[in-house]
Amino acid sequence: MVSVVIPAYNEEENIRRAADTISRILEREKIPYELLFVNDGSADRTWELIREEAAENPNIHGLCFSRNFGKESAIFAGLRESRGDCTAVIDCDLQHPPEKLVEMYRLWEKGYEIIEGVKRSRGEESGGHKAAAKTFYRIISRATGIDMSNASDFKLLDRKAVTVLVNMPEKNAFFRALSSWIGFKTAKVEYDVQERQAGTSKWSTRKLISYALTNITSFTTFPMQVVTVLGVIMLIVAIVLGVTALVQKIMGVALGGFTTVIILLCFTGSIIMISLGIIGYYLAKIYEEVKGRPRYILAEKV
Ligand code: UDP
Ligand code: MG
Repeated sequence: MVSVVIPAYNEEENIRRAADTISRILEREKIPYELLFVNDGSADRTWELIREEAAENPNIHGLCFSRNFGKESAIFAGLRESRGDCTAVIDCDLQHPPEKLVEMYRLWEKGYEIIEGVKRSRGEESGGHKAAAKTFYRIISRATGIDMSNASDFKLLDRKAVTVLVNMPEKNAFFRALSSWIGFKTAKVEYDVQERQAGTSKWSTRKLISYALTNITSFTTFPMQVVTVLGVIMLIVAIVLGVTALVQKIMGVALGGFTTVIILLCFTGSIIMISLGIIGYYLAKIYEEVKGRPRYILAEKV
């Protein structure tokens, strides 16, 4: 059986369509399935609609979070609750073409353990968004050593991989990268990102920036090493300036030198503050992990 995890946040227009389309495709191919909708604390009728679908079709189940915990948490909740021999993750807005699930399933039958959906095209996105996404994926790709530029959350994982992911103690887990990082026999399926069926994107700019920061820091400590590099650069600058100042002093041509002092002061000050900020960010992450709060809280299940 294949479990299909579908995170949904304020997707009332899409629940019915997603449930119908995906179950129709899987039934046509005679693939035993369960659909697992995860309502990520929606403020609209999403949960009601999921319950209706679950009442109509015994293959459809739903999880309801007590509030909005974010897509990553929704995916992990779905993975944990899924019971299939393999588990797929797909967006509720059908931007990931569900027909590809069949292709992925067939590859899984052939023995692949992780089948990744790879974006052939990124669909409609604004210029600024594209540039930001590119930078983000460049950093993540370097951090994981895997090309992530076209990665997405559209994946099918074998039970083995699901078990590994679900048992990871990390709270700030980044599904897209982590599922590549764990290895296993991997295949890729290319797909074109579709137009969103209904509603608008659930990501505000603020949410995206915090998502990017969280995921970068959960995968790499590079920003912290930047601090060291800046320190070394400052040291070199300090030595050069120090020697010059001494030489001038000895030769008796030392001037007031206020400019240098002010520039140096501002420069070191700002670098120290930035560095402290970066360290603080990691400290906050460690604090969060140490607190050991659950990644999500389930309010209801159907
Ligand atoms: N989503 C979620 N929680 C959130 C934000 C989004 O579960 O806090 C779900 C959303 O319902 C959808 C998927 O994540 O199924 C992708 O979201 P969206 O289509 O808004 O993102 P985009 O396609 O614009 O990247
Ligand atoms: Mg979308």
